[in-house]
Amino acid sequence: MTFSINLTDEEKQIVDDLASGKLSFRKADSVSENPERAALLRRLALEKMKNTDLSDLSYFSFDCSQVSKKNIENLVGAVQVPLGIAGPLSISGEFAKGEYHIPLATTEGALVASVNRGCSAITKSGGTTVRIFKNMMTRAPLFKLKSVGEAHRFYNWLTLPETFEKIKTVAENTTRFGKLHSAEPFISGTSVHLRLGFDTKDAMGMNMITIATEAVTQMIEKETGISCLTLSGNMCTDKKPTALNAALGRGKTVVAETLIPKEIIEQTFKCTADSMFQVNYEKNLLGTIRAGGLGFNAHAANIVAALFIACGQDPAHVVEGSLTITQMDLTEDGGLLCTVTMPAVEVGTIGGGTSISSQKACLSILGVSGSSEIPGENSSKLSEIVAASVLAGEISLIGAQAAGHLARAHATLGR
Ligand code: NAP
Repeated sequence: MTFSINLTDEEKQIVDDLASGKLSFRKADSVSENPERAALLRRLALEKMKNTDLSDLSYFSFDCSQVSKKNIENLVGAVQVPLGIAGPLSISGEFAKGEYHIPLATTEGALVASVNRGCSAITKSGGTTVRIFKNMMTRAPLFKLKSVGEAHRFYNWLTLPETFEKIKTVAENTTRFGKLHSAEPFISGTSVHLRLGFDTKDAMGMNMITIATEAVTQMIEKETGISCLTLSGNMCTDKKPTALNAALGRGKTVVAETLIPKEIIEQTFKCTADSMFQVNYEKNLLGTIRAGGLGFNAHAANIVAALFIACGQDPAHVVEGSLTITQMDLTEDGGLLCTVTMPAVEVGTIGGGTSISSQKACLSILGVSGSSEIPGENSSKLSEIVAASVLAGEISLIGAQAAGHLARAHATLGR
C-alpha cells in the first residue's frame, strides 16, 4: 500500500477526512500544498476506502498542475497503456510526405503486428496516396419555436447571406484561429437545428467552436428574440454514430489509397487478390448492410483508438472513426486497389490531451506536435497519417481473413 509514504499530521487528517466523506475529493486541491500532493492524498484515501493497493496508479511523468488545470478533475494517478510502433509506412499526402512510424497504444495483442504487416505491404507497393476532401468541425445548437410558421420564418432568416455574415463575424471574434465556413439549418417540426461548420486549424476544435457557438446563439437570441434550447441538439454530431456524419463529414474527410500488386499480396498475406476482394465485398459491404451498420470496414476503430490514445486525441471520437468505408477493387493484372474513406477524422495537434508529455512525445514521433507555421498543417498531416494507418490495418485484417489466419494470429499473439 502507498500508505507508508511520509505524511504530515495535517495530511493524515486530510486522508481520513477524504476517506470518511467529511471532505469531498474536489476539495483536496484547496487543502493540500500542490496538485501532485492532492492526487496522492486522494489515492491514499481511496486505498483506505476500498481496502486495496493503488500504488500502480502512482507512476506517471506528466505535470500534475498542468493536467489538473486542463485535462482532469479529482486526479488520483494514471493508468498505463502499452505503446507499440508499426511501420515504416510510406505516405504521399498533401501534408504528410515520407516514411512514418505509427505509435499505437493498445492492450489488444496482434493489433500492432497486424498494422505493421499492412504498413509493410503498402510501403513495398510504393506507398499510399492520401487526400483531404473536406475540413469542417461542427456544432449544432437547437432553437425551439412556437409554430411551423415561426420556424419557417426563422429558417429563411438563417439562410440569408447577410445572416451568415453576421454569424461568421460573431463566431470568428471569439477565436484567433477558427474560421466559420458554413451555417446550415435543419428543420424538424417546430425545432430548428443550425449546423455550424468551422475550420479549426491545428486544434480538434470542440472547445473552440463551442465557445464560438455560444456567442452566435446569444447574437441570434438578441436579434430575433428566439431562444436557444441547447448549444448542442445532437446534429453536430459529437461522439455518436450518425448517418449525418457519414454523409456530410465532420472534422476532416480523408481518403487513403494503395495499389497492391499480385506478388505482394501472395507473399505478404498468403492469399490472392480475388479472395481479399471477395471477403471485403461480402463482409465489409454486404455484411454491414445486413447488420444495418454504418461502419463498412473491418476494424478501423481499432487503429483509430490506438493512435488516438497514443497521441492525446479525444478517444470518444473513435465513434466517428468507425464510419470508415473500405473498398477493394481487382485490377486487370491481378492486383488490388484498396481505399479507405474516413468521413470524420477529428484530430488536433494543439489543445486537449496533446500537451501531456507522453502524448506529445508520440505526436513528435510523427513530426506533428503543436501549432504549425501555417496553422492547420499539422492537424491535416495527422489526419492523413490516421487514414494511411487505418488503410494498413484494413488490408492486413482482410488479408488474414482471406487466408483463414484470423484465429491463428490471435491465438499466437493475443493470448
Ligand atoms: P483547446 O484545448 O480548447 O485549445 C484550442 C485552442 O488553442 C484554440 O481555441 C486556439 O485558441 C489555440 N490555438 C493555438 N494555436 C492554434 C493553432 N495553430 N490552431 C488552432 N488553435 C490554436 O482545444 P479544442 O481543440 O478547442 O478542444 C479539444 C478539447 O475539447 C478536448 O479536450 C476534448 O476532449 C474537448 N471536448 C470538448 C467538448 C465541448 O463541448 N466543449 C466536446 C467534445 C470534446 P483561440 O481559439 O483562443 O485562438
